[in-house]
Amino acid sequence: MTRDPRYDVLFEPVKIGPVTARNRFYQVPHCNGMGRTYPSSMAAMRRTKAEGGWAVVCTEQIEIHPSADHSPWAGGRLWDDSDMPVLARMCDGIHEHGSLAGAELNYAGLMSASRYSREIPMAPSHAPLATFDPGQARAMDKSDIRDLRRWHVAAARRARQVGFDLVYVYAGHQLSTISHFLSPYRNQRTDEYGGSLENRARLLREVLADTREAVGDSCAVAIRFSVDELMGDAGFTSDGEGRDLVEMLADIPDLWDVNISGWEHDSATSRFKPQGYQEEYIRFVKRVTSKPVVAVGRYTSPDTMVSLVRGGVMDFIGAARPTIADPFLPRKIEEGRVQDIRECIGCNICVSGDHASVPIRCTQNPTMGEEWRKGWHPERIAPATSPASVLIVGAGPAGLEAARALGQRGYDVTLADRNTEAGGRVAAERRLPGLSEWDRVADYRTYQISQMANVQIFLQSEMTADMIAEFGADHVVLATGSRWVANGRGRENPAGISIDAAVPVLTPDDIMSGARPEGPVIVFDDDHYYMGGLMAEKLRRDGLDVTYVTPASEVSSWTHNTLEQHFIQRRLLELGVRVVLSSNLAGIGPDGAVVECGYTGAETGLPGATLVPVTMREPVDALYSQIAGLGDLQVSRIGDCLAPGTIAAAVYSGHRCARAFGEPAAGEVSFRRELPALSPEF
Ligand code: ADP
Ligand code: SF4
Repeated sequence: MTRDPRYDVLFEPVKIGPVTARNRFYQVPHCNGMGRTYPSSMAAMRRTKAEGGWAVVCTEQIEIHPSADHSPWAGGRLWDDSDMPVLARMCDGIHEHGSLAGAELNYAGLMSASRYSREIPMAPSHAPLATFDPGQARAMDKSDIRDLRRWHVAAARRARQVGFDLVYVYAGHQLSTISHFLSPYRNQRTDEYGGSLENRARLLREVLADTREAVGDSCAVAIRFSVDELMGDAGFTSDGEGRDLVEMLADIPDLWDVNISGWEHDSATSRFKPQGYQEEYIRFVKRVTSKPVVAVGRYTSPDTMVSLVRGGVMDFIGAARPTIADPFLPRKIEEGRVQDIRECIGCNICVSGDHASVPIRCTQNPTMGEEWRKGWHPERIAPATSPASVLIVGAGPAGLEAARALGQRGYDVTLADRNTEAGGRVAAERRLPGLSEWDRVADYRTYQISQMANVQIFLQSEMTADMIAEFGADHVVLATGSRWVANGRGRENPAGISIDAAVPVLTPDDIMSGARPEGPVIVFDDDHYYMGGLMAEKLRRDGLDVTYVTPASEVSSWTHNTLEQHFIQRRLLELGVRVVLSSNLAGIGPDGAVVECGYTGAETGLPGATLVPVTMREPVDALYSQIAGLGDLQVSRIGDCLAPGTIAAAVYSGHRCARAFGEPAAGEVSFRRELPALSPEF
């Protein structure tokens, strides 16, 4: 297939100062939980992006000095020469596929507690660490400023030496000391580095000039800047100082990488923000500078990309999450295979890996982070070793992915589901407020499967053990999912909650199937991810009186890992949901519920209500024991049917099952590890 000529503009080369990108697809800097800690994994992941057609592939933040040490966060590091081989490996992988490598150098004093180095972080003014560690960053004097500039220069030289084509000066997201100098609320200085915008921008100007001198004339200098901090007059705004700053430095860098701040706004989830919602903020930048502009917006549609370029909004289509969900997005457009793009769903599970300093994972792309340690390629998979037929029961994320990947390998696959549509939990959850983009998990896979002659889907096909035995497949995979429990069993109440038989109880499954409570509702959230908060939101939007009770100290507390917690709690409060935190649900009867303070044990009464327990799920796995008694059928379980988890975990489980099928069993540790090097001196 050839590419649609409408998309030609996306494949034009674009000059960035002294270097040229082969097209307009640009992977902006993004964290990945691998960085210097899992360097081979990180380098292989970036190489795969270049192979997939991204013309520019950047690092995550690279620390430039031990006094701004982000440990245990697994980002990049360039403190001295000993850090160079990791980044050289990354550059080599990117260059192998004809792309440019970009390095995001950063000194992030206030954001770095230097837990490993134990050096003192620095900031424009004395201030408590933003990490909430019990310590402060110290105010920089003139010699500190000279040191900071020197460290930037040394890191820029090293970056150039290892092969980067583009070196960033990072002034974005309030994550760099340069951005703290810029900030009217962080910079309290009274010297020539504080006060007016011109003064606050002095360090940025100096580092831009230093960097240019350090990298010479064969490497570009980029700036990453957040034009709006969504704080009104208290911070930068795109019609105030954000714009003034771009005007002031307009043609000094070779490229403007612009966004909004903080990270939770820049990487907002689809539950809270649509694609491209940053456009209104960054649109002015191209009118102010003659240099190329890159910006992000979770863009996955080539038509939108073309209109952004033609409409003069940006020169490069910036992307982090779309490159994670589909490292081959540019190649698919180039090869006329737009329908094969695996679109990001905007769930931010990718961020959770970074937060935990473990390799990144993605709901849509099960191979993300596994390129090196498992040797998984996002597009290629080993062909079937010998012909076999596989019956998969359950067309949720796990069953769909197993069917797709087994089909790609060439196996003869039958996928059966009792529902009228494929998608399992995703088909239900996508109808909850804000989750409509999640249908892409099912859409991508059902389309791929529809193109495979060797994979058949049968809907409205409830399978029993006898039917499965009669079907006669060589192998049976159970992907039958899970159900929310109704008895309140969970983390806080391992034996369940005392629930009077007269109390109406509806689980999230009941509500997603259309059941509607009568009168007031108590949502008890002992799950802590999105479902409890979403039940409260949905039922409140349906006009009900809702009380949300949780043993955690915040609403949907795990969603810190997806950058959503603040937005969720705010939404419930704004909708008028009564929020009861740090409290367990001790029991509920027709006259009311008793909640117990998690600290004092003091009990409080709540009026009678329908209970919606969001506590845990149980696998739907009865078929497994029934089939196990039926002769020598080979059966395996995947996804929630084996152990309920995230949608990402279910997709991964389905993919893993397909990769392992017919292959020799893996050892106890099924992936390559990156072990710390033992010093010869001891
Ligand atoms: P996962 O997240 O592991 O993919 P889901 O709960 O999303 O699990 O999907 C499970 C799917 O299995 C649902 O679509 C459900 O209708 C289907 N299913 C469960 N039991 C049977 C059965 N006996 N026969 C056919 N389909 C089934
Ligand atoms: Fe997109 Fe979710 Fe994948 Fe992140 S984890 S890239 S948000 S699909």
